[in-house]
Amino acid sequence: RATSMPSQSGSIKVHTKKDFVPKTGKANAAFIILARNSNQAGLLSSMQQNEDKFNSNYNYPYVILNDQPFTDEFMQVISSVTKAQVKFGTIDHSMWGYPQWIDQEKAAKGRKALEEKKAPYASSESYRHMCRFQSGFFFRHPLTMEYDYYWRIEPDVNFYCNIDYDVFAFMEAKDVKYGWTLSLTDYPSTLETFWPTVQKWISKHPEWMTSGKSSLRPWLHDDDKMEKYNLCHFWSNFEIGSLKWLRSEQYVSYFDHLDKSGGFFYERWGDAPVHSVAVALMLNESDVHFFNDIGYYHPPLTHCPSEPQLQAKCACNASVSFGMYSSHRNAITNCV
Ligand code: GDP
Ligand code: MN
Repeated sequence: RATSMPSQSGSIKVHTKKDFVPKTGKANAAFIILARNSNQAGLLSSMQQNEDKFNSNYNYPYVILNDQPFTDEFMQVISSVTKAQVKFGTIDHSMWGYPQWIDQEKAAKGRKALEEKKAPYASSESYRHMCRFQSGFFFRHPLTMEYDYYWRIEPDVNFYCNIDYDVFAFMEAKDVKYGWTLSLTDYPSTLETFWPTVQKWISKHPEWMTSGKSSLRPWLHDDDKMEKYNLCHFWSNFEIGSLKWLRSEQYVSYFDHLDKSGGFFYERWGDAPVHSVAVALMLNESDVHFFNDIGYYHPPLTHCPSEPQLQAKCACNASVSFGMYSSHRNAITNCV
């Protein structure tokens, strides 16, 4: 089993990686990216940095998905950034569109109500389709089905640190199912019925919940009775995770339950709280990993490691790293 060392001040322990022995050499893994044609320059930038800091030594393939067809120019320019394989795919209506049980008038009212509360992307329909796709479908798109692990990358992000070990082989060797760099709290108005909806699903499947000392469940709550969700979530624009876990009966049952309730459209549930709550309900500390050594920026937040031996590999400023010094609760998750 994986060795663990205590976190700096929080309750989630982290794996050490110096000692891992890859199981099979390279893992069966890919970068999975969702992008529009208009993201060409931003994606070029993200991928160029990823190649520079990590992938030019490992050559993991990329799967790049869009709800519209990519232009020839997009595919040509993006493929030229890497010597690894790049696959481009479109997303069909079964994974990006209104399910038949959604009342579209109710959805329009929900958007109006959220606009009044000034939530980001309140009026956007495409953002809701995107969040639903990232919550329930990217891991079973035909182009991603063959892989076991994924690293999500977005356009316009920065990678700051040289990564000189195989991150995917690490995930496999330690049997890690979910990894992150940043976490924070979500906008309450986007999630008004989310937790009550989750609670209904929990009561149907108590046997799937983790409990005891190594359960991640307490991270979701500030109240001792664990009845209220504190809106903490891993920021899902960066994720390294197990596709097999997302395809499991448990995760799919959870997603289907949420999807049937309509909250992706009637409210504006983000894929970040959806993934994070599943992680915390059904996984243990040893199943997750905080990638402290991957310096990362997605507007407007940075993660930059402060340990001197890590800083030496990173072109970033640890003093602007989000949450590192602000939380008594959990420096590892940065949820403040
Ligand atoms: P934010 O990070 O929450 O501000 O949302 P983003 O605009 O960055 O979107 C998240 C991810 O989904 C990024 O990889 C975007 O490129 C992608 N994305 C968002 N909306 C759409 C869309 O309508 N179509 C496609 N193909 N990709 C989208
Ligand atoms: Mn983004």
